[in-house]
Amino acid sequence: MSIRSVAIIGLGLLGGSIGLAVQARAPDIATKGWDRDPSVRERAAARGLMGHVYDTPEDAVAEADLVILCVPVGAMGDAARAIAPGLAPHAIVSDVGSSKAAVAEALAAALPGVTVIPAHPVAGTEQSGPEAGFASLFAGRWCIITPPEGVDSQALEALSDFWTQLGSKVEIMDAAHHDLVLAVTSHIPHLIAYTIVGTASDLEDVTQSEVIKYSAGGFRDFTRIAASDPVMWRDVFLTNRQAVLEMLGRFTEDLTALQRAIRSGDGDTLFDLFTRTRAIRRAVIEQGQDDERPDFGRGHGE
Ligand code: NAP
Repeated sequence: MSIRSVAIIGLGLLGGSIGLAVQARAPDIATKGWDRDPSVRERAAARGLMGHVYDTPEDAVAEADLVILCVPVGAMGDAARAIAPGLAPHAIVSDVGSSKAAVAEALAAALPGVTVIPAHPVAGTEQSGPEAGFASLFAGRWCIITPPEGVDSQALEALSDFWTQLGSKVEIMDAAHHDLVLAVTSHIPHLIAYTIVGTASDLEDVTQSEVIKYSAGGFRDFTRIAASDPVMWRDVFLTNRQAVLEMLGRFTEDLTALQRAIRSGDGDTLFDLFTRTRAIRRAVIEQGQDDERPDFGRGHGE
């Protein structure tokens, strides 16, 4: 089957970027959208994020071959129930949620008998809302598809082709494994950023103005991640609880080992770890997942 029209539910960073990317890279596919917030619908239409923005979820999904839910993971069940009455019988329903096992469960419960194939484009920024989206968000980034057992292979191929057309590289993975991998690569790093920025702002013997003034020492890179959408991230930690707690246990052990090394003056342990982590940064750059310019390519006033 081929996708001729896609309906996007939730017109923020992810939803808006999909609309713009489809219009730029696959203009034969019609784009339709809906968001529960009338002001978001208005701003999305004004920015041309979709070919057409509708006032009801039923109208947005009517006759769509593919429907992608781009709402916070805690809202997936509600969004699925809102579109259910308008879905075409052949429609594929997917999503972009950052955790997968809980979303798969919520969508299957809300949409019995519907072809549901959850997915997660591993691409984003710390910004949100209809002004945040851009067409190249997915170019060169991975999209992880987590099909349920017994999935319709033609539907899976159509969804995979869709993401490839937007410039993504596609990987198929089991939902539970996705949740473990993303706990390490995304969810724990966000938790650490939220913690360090929170700790710095609560200190008593270092003033907040000093923290901000000297932030280039490392702190400011955490502030970018810690500025991410609070609703989205609250939902990620609540829905990927098990994998996050498992990885957090491991992280806490490693942190305790470092604490011990610092206390006992064990420079070799510190040096060995810092050497290994440098190699990981090199691999991230070599695989095209980040900019190789020093300090993320910041200008430094020249
Ligand atoms: P966003 O910019 O905040 O957009 C989400 C939009 O969905 C908002 O306009 C929100 O409206 C709307 N919404 C909430 N509940 C709804 C419902 N029940 N029905 C219809 N619309 C609803 O968020 P985002 O960054 O695009 O994230 C969307 C999804 O993508 C999340 O599941 C997230 O885990 C995933 N994701 C995010 C990133 C990232 O870096 N941001 C990366 C990959 C995947 P209100 O403002 O009124 O709530």
